[in-house]
Amino acid sequence: MTMPLPAVFEPSREVPVVDAADVVVCGSGPAGIAAALAAARTGARTTLIETHGCLGGVWTSGMLSWIIDAADKPGIMREIIAELDRRGARATRVPGGRDFTYDVEQMKLLLERLALQAGVRVRLHTRVVATAREGRRLRAVFTESKSGREAWAGKVFVDATGDGDLSALAGCGFDLGRPGSGECQPMSLLALITGLEADAIAEFIGGGLYEPKQRLFAEFKRAGVTPSYTAPILFRIYDDLFAFIGNHEYGVSALDAGEITAATLRARAEVHSLVDALRALGGPWGRMRIVATADQIGVREGRRIHGLYTVGEADLVAGARHEDAVCRANFGIDVHSTNKSRGGSYEPANRTRTQPYDIPLRALIARDMDNLLLAGRCISGDFLAHSSYRVTGTAVALGQGAGAAAALAALTDTPPAEVPWPKVREALDRIEARGV
Ligand SMILES: Cc1cc2nc3c(=O)[nH]c(=O)nc-3n(C[C@H](O)[C@H](O)[C@H](O)COP(=O)(O)OP(=O)(O)OC[C@H]3O[C@@H](n4cnc5c(N)ncnc54)[C@H](O)[C@@H]3O)c2cc1C
Repeated sequence: MTMPLPAVFEPSREVPVVDAADVVVCGSGPAGIAAALAAARTGARTTLIETHGCLGGVWTSGMLSWIIDAADKPGIMREIIAELDRRGARATRVPGGRDFTYDVEQMKLLLERLALQAGVRVRLHTRVVATAREGRRLRAVFTESKSGREAWAGKVFVDATGDGDLSALAGCGFDLGRPGSGECQPMSLLALITGLEADAIAEFIGGGLYEPKQRLFAEFKRAGVTPSYTAPILFRIYDDLFAFIGNHEYGVSALDAGEITAATLRARAEVHSLVDALRALGGPWGRMRIVATADQIGVREGRRIHGLYTVGEADLVAGARHEDAVCRANFGIDVHSTNKSRGGSYEPANRTRTQPYDIPLRALIARDMDNLLLAGRCISGDFLAHSSYRVTGTAVALGQGAGAAAALAALTDTPPAEVPWPKVREALDRIEARGV
């Protein structure tokens, strides 16, 4: 047994406040970018803080490339779709299909443009690491970056860090993983692939369909390798550019940098060995190359922060309706095996019959702080509901709702929980009217 090393003492210090905004959004994934745009367009001075070198979260630094449950999301999601189309940077599996692929690099550029046009103050390469509180109010977040330690004051804060970092740092309660065991869905490292021709590999191109995944898995077996994700997917972005998911990392905590590092190193080695094996088969695979693997391994599950309402499996089964709905989610339960012993793909819970359901603003309002909203996969919900609302079309709609409510709360000096719902609805109507 190794003895713990003695701790070291860090002296306290004065930290410069570099900015005082109405709304501070932490994390710029699909939820955070939407929250920042919605807050700025509702009239709030808005700051967006992101730890990676681009906006977009799993869309960009995670190279996701496939957007689910976006088709009927009004406002910012519709605007992003229109921007992608203007750039010829989007493809559906079939003409008129609801879910679609996009060009990761174009997504980076267009999100930056939208943020700057809306007047959002963007800070990249900067991680939120602590909070300054007064009772149940957040006064500022502390960050670390090349500029050292800085403080960012705000009236209202939005936690869009995916893993709920900000809320946890502020001392909010949360749940993680399956009830009882705490097991979480596996992580996956994505890659962009070239050197393939869409027509030559049409039978292996997936996107929501199971048969192409089965055929691709069989092809890997023929090449002498077994992907840890036994339902591997190739998404077509252009005829000569594809996204690939073939990896599952089990038992990795989203809250442990050491475990995430080890998973990333394992995953990158696996993705390369899978691609090398297919290339060695020759034929349509003979010129297959990895353009890039993602900087950020895809994290399906982190903290689910306690809010004023908890979205639960029963909401999905009943098709819940709420007066203060910020979003109607259509995607069903989607749990990837939380343990390798359960198989390398999906869990039986995915067969549960669900209906489109509403997510109320209350699930986006932190229970334990008075000026903190939640957006994206860290909102308040149970294990199974999270597996549905985590998809990115829904995350954008949740961000839009959180951003609009945060702006109104900041501009009227009112806790988000006390902003009258009709006012939030009016603000959302204005944002949605802009959608092309
Ligand atoms: C492997 C995988 C496959 C998936 N497949 C699909 C799919 O096909 N289609 C789909 O629509 N969805 C899919 N999802 C689900 C979806 O990607 C996520 O649930 C979604 O990204 C949620 O958006 P978000 O904005 O809440 O979080 P994220 O995209 O995770 O964004 C969080 C952002 O916060 C930043 N951040 C984190 N901590 C800090 C901090 N302390 N300080 C500053 N910044 C911070 C991160 O860098 C990141 O940019 C998949 C997810 C994974 C992991």
